[in-house]
This record gives sequence, C-alpha cells and structure tokens, in this order.
Amino acid sequence: MNFDESPEESALRAEIRAFLDANATVKTGTEADWSRGPADDTEDAARAYMERCRAWQKVLFDNGWAGITWPTEFGGRGDSAAVAVIFGQEASRYDVTNGFIGAVQSLVGPPIMRHGTPEQQARFLPGLLDGSVNWCQLFSEPGAGSDLAALSTRAVRDGDSFIVNGQKVWNTQAQFADWGILVARTDPDAPKHKGITFFLLDMHTPGVEVRPLVQATGQAHFNEVFFNDVVIPVENVVGGINEGWAVTRTVLSSEAGMIGSGAGGSNGFSGVLDLARRYGRTSDPVIRQGLADAYARERMLQLLGLRMQSFILNGRGNPPDPSVMKNYMVGAAERRYDLALEIEGADGMLDKVDAPQKGFWQTNHMGQFGSRIGGGTNEVHRNMIAERALGLPRDIQPDKDLPWKDILKA
Ligand SMILES: Cc1cc2nc3c(=O)[nH]c(=O)nc-3n(C[C@H](O)[C@H](O)[C@H](O)COP(=O)(O)OP(=O)(O)OC[C@H]3O[C@@H](n4cnc5c(N)ncnc54)[C@H](O)[C@@H]3O)c2cc1C
Repeated sequence: MNFDESPEESALRAEIRAFLDANATVKTGTEADWSRGPADDTEDAARAYMERCRAWQKVLFDNGWAGITWPTEFGGRGDSAAVAVIFGQEASRYDVTNGFIGAVQSLVGPPIMRHGTPEQQARFLPGLLDGSVNWCQLFSEPGAGSDLAALSTRAVRDGDSFIVNGQKVWNTQAQFADWGILVARTDPDAPKHKGITFFLLDMHTPGVEVRPLVQATGQAHFNEVFFNDVVIPVENVVGGINEGWAVTRTVLSSEAGMIGSGAGGSNGFSGVLDLARRYGRTSDPVIRQGLADAYARERMLQLLGLRMQSFILNGRGNPPDPSVMKNYMVGAAERRYDLALEIEGADGMLDKVDAPQKGFWQTNHMGQFGSRIGGGTNEVHRNMIAERALGLPRDIQPDKDLPWKDILKA
C-alpha cells in the first residue's frame, strides 16, 4: 500500500495548516475545549454551541473551505474526497467544529444537487453551504427505522399542495431546524418502496410540532415531530411524486459514506492513558491489558482509515467496507469507555460536575448506545457486510411487492 502524498497534496496540507493557524486555536485536550459539545444540558448551552458551529461554518465559507467536494456550480470547491480527508485530518487538531452542520450538508446537499430542480438548487443550497439555514432529517417513525420504506406518515394531494399528517421520531436537532427533508407516503396502494414522496418542509409551517426527547446523557439531542394538517406546496417535492425512494437512497448512501471515520480524539486511547496515569493505575495488570487493547483497536482503525485514504488517493487495493469500519469503531469505543469508568473506580459512579473532568467519560459512555443505532444499527450493518463484503444472499423481504396498505404494520 502506498500512503505517500504527491507534492501537490503536501502543498495543500501546508495551505490548510496556514488557514487553520490563522483562524483557530489548537485543542488543549481538556474540558475547556468547546468543540467537545455544549457545556451543560440546558437548551441555552445547546443553542450557544450550535451558534459557534454556525460561526465556524461561516469562516469556512468566507475562506473558500466550505463544500470541499461540492461541485463548483453549486458553490463548492469541486475538489476530490482526498482533499476533504486531508482537511479533516488537519482540522482535527484544532478546537473547531461545524458540529451537525457537516452532517446535514452530507444528508441534504446530495439529494437536492442530484434530484432537485434548478429553482430548488438556487433557493436551498447557498444557505446550506454557509450554515445560515439549519436543517434536519425527518425519516424515522415509531414503526419505521431500519425498514424505513414501511413509513406511514401520509401526504395527500390538495390542488397545488400536499396535506401531511403523521409522526417522525429521533430527529436530530429538529428543535433548532428551519427546514427539514421529509419522506411521506403518497400512494398506499403501491408497494412500499414505490408510493413515497420526498419533500422539503419549512419547519415553521403551522401544524409542525417539535417535542425534544431528553436521553440518558441529560441532553436533548433529538426530537419527536408531529404533523397536523401541514401544508407543503407541490414545488417543494424533490424527484417526482411517488418517486421519493430513489432520492431517499441518495441520502442513505451519503450517510453511510459519512460514518466509520475518525480515531484518536480526546476520548481515544491517549485520553484513557492520561486518566490511568492520573489515577496511578498503569501498573494494575487488568488495566494494562485494557490499555493495550484500546491502543491496538485505535491503531487498527487508523490503519483502516489510511487504507481508505490510499484507495481514494490512488485507487489501489480494496477499500475497507464502511460497515466494517462503523461497527469496529463502535465496538472499540464501547470497550474504551468501559475501561475509563473502571479506571475511575468509585468516581465512575458520579456524574456531571461531581464527576472527574465534569463527567466527560460518563457522557461518552452513555452516548455510545446511540452510536450503535444511528446511521444504521450494528445488526443492519452486519447484514450489509454479509451481502457486500462476503457475497452472501440478500436478506429476504417477503412484503417487498405487496401494496403498502396490505402489509403488516409495526
Ligand atoms: C444518535 C441517533 C441519531 C439519529 N438521527 C436521526 C435523524 O436525524 N433523523 C431520523 O429520521 N432518524 C434518526 N435516527 C433514527 C435511526 O435512523 C433509527 O433509530 C435506526 O434506523 C433504527 O431504527 P429503529 O430505532 O426503529 O430500530 P428498529 O429498526 O426497530 O430495530 C430494532 C432492533 O431490530 C434489529 N433489526 C432491525 N432490522 C433488522 C434486520 N433486517 N436484521 C437484523 N436485525 C434487525 C435492529 O438492529 C435493532 O436491534 C437517529 C438515531 C440515533 C441513535
């Protein structure tokens, strides 16, 4: 494998470093780093964090570093994924992040660029790129998660509009969103993948009710969203009426590309090692085994990441499957956070301001459960590994060709 960069890529790395040195500070690796997330569990803290993410996005935009892989016709740089990888590697050392904005750009940008009308592209892409408009993803429902095509939120045509009724759930940052990408059922007589339409929804429309869900960490990361006779103009349909599944697949494959990267942050091996040193536990044989395990797994992830980078840079070898990387990353994090709390001993039972590092490891530990589910559950990714990496037959789908109205509902 060849990890060498070309002279052009090395020059680019130097240019990126110069930009970051001029506009950001290096992480201290302590709880003072704002890029770790909101300072406490209040809505004010979540909002303040979001505003800082937006401010950083604006800096990226003003300096020509927003939308690295977006085509130039849509305001991006039109660069390769390799440039985005190099930018991500350099930026990870600095106390900056655009938080959820980076995720929604990957979720909302591709469907509008690929399936949207020129009017939709002109209207929605600029605010997405500079971070001035907040977006959310309105896909999952109480009865439709892994099997998203089973969704039952209804959209009924009424002249130049659709009237939407139903419920979504687990919608990240919907409480702060101005717009959402929404999938709803427009033809209950068609098979489940064929009667779905993809909409752009103004979250300030009457009848949209957003209820934050407080999870075990104490923060309200996501929400339930209810629709009571919500009116969406037909011009906000993306990709054709009843043809929303193709648009949805664009979002899901972009989401899969987003996950499975990153190793070695402050909650990585070096963070646990520091913790063990502070607690004087580096000579405890069981803790030492745990530390060796954490080191080995982090190194594996870094090597998988380098293999991915090498594939992107020069197309050599087989890229690691994103599902393998996602599941391996989640598994490594679970073991590391268990270890951190074991190192803290009795202190591990404390939380928030009472706990060491203001509950940093406790928060990571509680957050790991969501990582097993978000972006596709561990089990669903194992199915994908079976199909894509091992070439095993596809999972059976007995209701695939039945009219949606006739299939068993969860
Ligand atoms: C942190 C986080 C952020 C999220 N953000 C959003 C968001 O912004 N917008 C949004 O719309 N949704 C979001 N979600 C929801 C997420 O997409 C769903 O939780 C996910 O798709 C799983 O669906 P579910 O929760 O309904 O579980 P289910 O699909 O009901 O799964 C239940 C269990 O069955 C297993 N299972 C299901 N199908 C199979 C199968 N075929 N083979 C084997 N096992 C299977 C699953 O692995 C799981 O263990 C988020 C979730 C999390 C955790």
